Amino acid sequence: MELRVAHLYPDVMNIYGDRGNVIALRYRCEARDIRFHLGQVNIGNPFNPAEFDLVLIGGGQDREQRRIAGDLVGRGPAIREAIGHGLPALAVCGGFQLFGHRYVDHDGSIIPGIGVFDLETRHPGPVADRCIGDVVLETELGEVVGFENHGGRTYLALDQAPFGRVRRGFGNNAVDGFEGARHNNAIGTYLHGSLLPKNPRLADELILAALRRRYGPEVDLAPLDDTPERAANQNAAAIAIRRSRRATG
Ligand code: GLN
Repeated sequence: MELRVAHLYPDVMNIYGDRGNVIALRYRCEARDIRFHLGQVNIGNPFNPAEFDLVLIGGGQDREQRRIAGDLVGRGPAIREAIGHGLPALAVCGGFQLFGHRYVDHDGSIIPGIGVFDLETRHPGPVADRCIGDVVLETELGEVVGFENHGGRTYLALDQAPFGRVRRGFGNNAVDGFEGARHNNAIGTYLHGSLLPKNPRLADELILAALRRRYGPEVDLAPLDDTPERAANQNAAAIAIRRSRRATG
């Protein structure tokens, strides 16, 4: 089998090591003798979602989001349709924001999104505190850990499912207790870290969804020795809890 991954704007949207998500997916495929093909899609490059099994987009500063937004919006209908038909995707932070309807950035400029998720993001302005720190989520895939650093606050429409609920950290907007968003096999999240190396179950869920969509529902993944990954996950969760206790006294 082969996993074909499209990495959108890797030369621009790669803040806080989100490229580590590609490294984790490649490792978890090749350790199981599953071929791994990476297609890098930068501004102006050809991109047909039908040729891929999984789409990734990482985070970026406001100026980097402005830089890619026009190109991404042009690809929006094809990406929305593919995700509507089950294409798995992982959109992180700035990429997550642009997979919503729009992002009103730190100086009030409106950056258009592609509407995969029914949400919008608004930055409260340059003097507002950023949402920075360790995060622990409760999700359908169990506990997920990561790191967040964003100024924008994301607001889900009533019928938009979150990715998880916040146990530690700010999450989408530091108010409603939700983090990220889910639509079909697409996951949006603020969690950097990078996310997938420390959350092996999430990585495998994305791989499995992609392979079953291409090769059929009977596909399964052989277990890997995830001792280091689980240790990294538990360590990150412990640090998040310890730091949050220290912060709240
Ligand atoms: N520029 C966006 C914000 O500040 C996203 C940041 C990021 O991708 N880490 O909210």
